[in-house]
Amino acid sequence: MTAIERYAAPQSLDEALGILQQDEVTILAGGTDLMPQTKAGRIGFKPTLMNIGRVAGLKGVTLDGQHLRIGALTTISELLRDPLIAQHAPVLAEACDHFASDQIRNAGTLGGNINNASPAGDTLVPLIVLDAEVELASKPNGSVTTRRMPLAEFFTGPGRTKRAANELLTAVRIPLPKPGHVARFYKFGTRPALDISTISIGIAGIKRDGALTDTRVAFGAVAPTPVRAPRTEAALEGRRLNAEAIEAAADAARDEVSPIDDVRASAWYRKELIHNMTRRMLDHVAHA
Ligand SMILES: Cc1cc2nc3c(=O)[nH]c(=O)nc-3n(C[C@H](O)[C@H](O)[C@H](O)COP(=O)(O)OP(=O)(O)OC[C@H]3O[C@@H](n4cnc5c(N)ncnc54)[C@H](O)[C@@H]3O)c2cc1C
Repeated sequence: MTAIERYAAPQSLDEALGILQQDEVTILAGGTDLMPQTKAGRIGFKPTLMNIGRVAGLKGVTLDGQHLRIGALTTISELLRDPLIAQHAPVLAEACDHFASDQIRNAGTLGGNINNASPAGDTLVPLIVLDAEVELASKPNGSVTTRRMPLAEFFTGPGRTKRAANELLTAVRIPLPKPGHVARFYKFGTRPALDISTISIGIAGIKRDGALTDTRVAFGAVAPTPVRAPRTEAALEGRRLNAEAIEAAADAARDEVSPIDDVRASAWYRKELIHNMTRRMLDHVAHA
């Protein structure tokens, strides 16, 4: 493990991006993933440890035109209490309600959950079905530049993302929901919260005349990254949510995922959970 040679606590985005541009940096937000991982020796520190907790403008939820903008430093507890999240993205609050304990929720941030890139990260699946995109800032030529990409394309493997070393994740943007928008999240663990997901499911779409369009389905903890489920989406898109369509979608979901056996569950069990819980969630959406 590399020893930390420098500690930085910038107060502005400009300053933080300057440090990222010059040094090899480990970014610290709430520390709820970083500290246990470094302590256990699973990852090492880079020479500079940069605490971004004081960087202005990275906290809070705002309306930005037709989008909801969530600053990367917004904590899980803040998401749970936020009125704009309750109004426009209640499915994200639902996921936060199944997230760890109060101590972890008070320190853990949305940006940290995303950048930790766990296939079981609880905010990732609801954000993917909400068509969220990440905002990444850097300062390659002395001035701040920003790029965006869909969250569904951000992850490349467990703990790995497309974020470049000189970039900071500054925010997540979610398009405001259209009329008829429905979204559901389900997390299965051995306990309702305080547990890593065995599987998780997100389903969203526009419900009109008993059918879903713009269908989004995503699964957590069944692949090296959270994944969208295009075959399950296709089985649902535009069809009335009757028993036959729901069963076809649940079958597609089971066939589409390729989970692994691990300490939490066997691959077979995860596939059965995906099948049964997709069906149950679609029943709820159909009757809502
Ligand atoms: C007891 C316990 C229970 C937990 N339960 C859950 C749970 O139920 N569900 C769940 O999903 N997670 C859970 N976690 C994991 C963790 O709490 C979350 O992933 C949390 O959101 C991480 O946020 P953080 O601010 O603490 O991140 P940190 O630990 O500070 O950082 C995590 C990673 O992201 C990077 N990073 C952080 N912010 C940025 C940024 N803005 N830009 C670029 N990189 C950044 C860091 O360098 C690091 O690699 C649990 C952890 C513990 C210890």
